Amino acid sequence: MTYWERRQRELNQALEKDEMKLKKRLSSFYDAEYRKLEKEIAAYYSQYGENNVIAYRRLMESLPEEDKRLLLERMDGFAEKYPEYAHLLPVRESIYKLNRLEGLQQSILLQQLEIGSVNEEEIRKHLEKQAARNASAAAETMGFGKNFYAENSQLVRQVVNTAWCNGKNFSQRVWDNVEKLAGYLGTDLAQGFARGDSYERLTKQLRQRFGKVSRNDAYRLIYTEGTFVMNEARAASFEQDTEEYVFRVQYDAIRRNGWQDVCDDLNGKTFQWSERKPGINFPPMHAWCHCTATPYVSDWNAWMDRYVQRHGSGQAEKVEKRLESDIIMYRKGSTHRKTSADGRKIIDKATYYKITNPAIKKGADIRIADGEILRRLQKEQATAVTYGNVLFFRPDATVSDVLEEVHHFYQNKRGLNSQYGARQRIIMNEIDAKNYLLSVVDKYHIPEEETALTKSQLESYKAEMEKMKTKGEWVDES
Ligand SMILES: [Zn+2]
Repeated sequence: MTYWERRQRELNQALEKDEMKLKKRLSSFYDAEYRKLEKEIAAYYSQYGENNVIAYRRLMESLPEEDKRLLLERMDGFAEKYPEYAHLLPVRESIYKLNRLEGLQQSILLQQLEIGSVNEEEIRKHLEKQAARNASAAAETMGFGKNFYAENSQLVRQVVNTAWCNGKNFSQRVWDNVEKLAGYLGTDLAQGFARGDSYERLTKQLRQRFGKVSRNDAYRLIYTEGTFVMNEARAASFEQDTEEYVFRVQYDAIRRNGWQDVCDDLNGKTFQWSERKPGINFPPMHAWCHCTATPYVSDWNAWMDRYVQRHGSGQAEKVEKRLESDIIMYRKGSTHRKTSADGRKIIDKATYYKITNPAIKKGADIRIADGEILRRLQKEQATAVTYGNVLFFRPDATVSDVLEEVHHFYQNKRGLNSQYGARQRIIMNEIDAKNYLLSVVDKYHIPEEETALTKSQLESYKAEMEKMKTKGEWVDES
């Protein structure tokens, strides 16, 4: 995992923590608001009802002047508090013509507008916090110090207010939800009265609608907009100094349980920051998506030159190290034996433990590959892979496989050749590992076919080194 990937994981965790807190806060707010609605309906039943039922025709009578006055007062209060949403209010004149049913429906609409304003405010604060935190973390990774973007910075405001899905931004989606829920509640109410529902039956249905819809809509919005803002803020920061990104699936609980979606097809694919489009090639790809994108640089030498030109030479190497993957796929595309079943000499258990136990004591996490990792190893015809401190072996690993991979673990632990670019480091460490294997042929009774393969691989890595040298891509220590 690179510095940035680790950082990213922390940022994702911080986002999820904030989401939980916000959800909790809004949830109890919705409960309190629902109790207010119930009280208002209860008052209707006691005022206009008989035997716990209201005759529909009584609701067609004109709304009492006092109720009209109260509605107008609430409207004025809302307009004063949220002038920017005043246009969502019903027309003043319409209030004078309301009957009792419409009066209650307007009151529900007003309450939903008030809830919408609180949603708007709370979610905006939450998103601004995420945008600032993520843009700053990306900027810091790129060498620009801590807290580069404040929560009230131009960039943060722009990211949070960007319209991205169906030409809408988060705020417009909050208001869409308000309108939708107010519409549902108004209809539920009218139908319930027309049916002659009791107070209990009517409020049971409203509670369902109110509790479920408001929560679901809000949670989905918080989650999906959070993914958008998080990724967009990072992108805005990264695109100033890198051109491409890799789409990365978030391996959350449901994906580990086998869930697959459109994001899996994009995982690992590279795109230009300038061509990113949420829902097409950039997260979020769909509602509830928590995927990410990491900067990708195909030519580090060119990148380095450009960075130094723009920002001076102080940070360039540090930044390269932070972004460059230290997931090294050793022996990609080659194996220590033919893939046919014949002639495989799977390592015996005693030798296996003799080699791996000392490494485990030094912090290696050694596992036998299964599932996705095994499929990937088979696809790439590799026999082992190292991710940081985790070593995966195929169940049919040979003594050479195990010796070599454990040797790579020690190399990585020592940071062997980490002063060089990824490609050169891999080649140097492979050459070192192959030489090591050849030096222990007798000690571990390595079969002749395996040694022959090791020799030919050594030659091919040496050839690759020469090629890089002729192209001037090899750095010689001076
Ligand atoms: Zn996704």
